[in-house]
Amino acid sequence: MRGHEPRSSSSCAACKFLKRRCIPDCLFAPYFRSDETKKFANVHKVFGASNVSKILIEVPEEQREDTVNSLAYEAEVRLKDPVYGCIGAIAMLQRKMIELQHDLAIARARLACYAGNSSASSITPFSGLPACDGFPDSFSHTSSEINQDGQMYDFSQVPYMMRHE
Ligand SMILES: [Zn+2]
Repeated sequence: MRGHEPRSSSSCAACKFLKRRCIPDCLFAPYFRSDETKKFANVHKVFGASNVSKILIEVPEEQREDTVNSLAYEAEVRLKDPVYGCIGAIAMLQRKMIELQHDLAIARARLACYAGNSSASSITPFSGLPACDGFPDSFSHTSSEINQDGQMYDFSQVPYMMRHE
């Protein structure tokens, strides 16, 4: 299925890059199609072709595609961010998650505060509500970007509508 090329002369991206003949049972051929030169170049630059082949030999065949995808991702990010590599992306997402958990805690506390206020008799957009005493408006700017996309918002966890007394 993979690497099924009409041209009989086409080598896999690895053999093409390394300027060698691609043999029928080439270890790289199923994972680096002839048009995936960039993918192999990145992996080779960061890990080295011989290390990649050693890793692939150690891994069971059914897990090799995932292994190559992982190596390709790690290599791409490492080339973009030579200092932190994919740890940079993970740390950034963890930081964002902590900020969002903080914002969610504030939103829940405010909603609980407004739900207890009997003068709130209509459904009002959350942003239009005045600040509730004791809960300063300390939402981080990152969360508002994400909220505009309507993503990462778990409405099942939040009392979305104001309760009527
Ligand atoms: Zn090959």
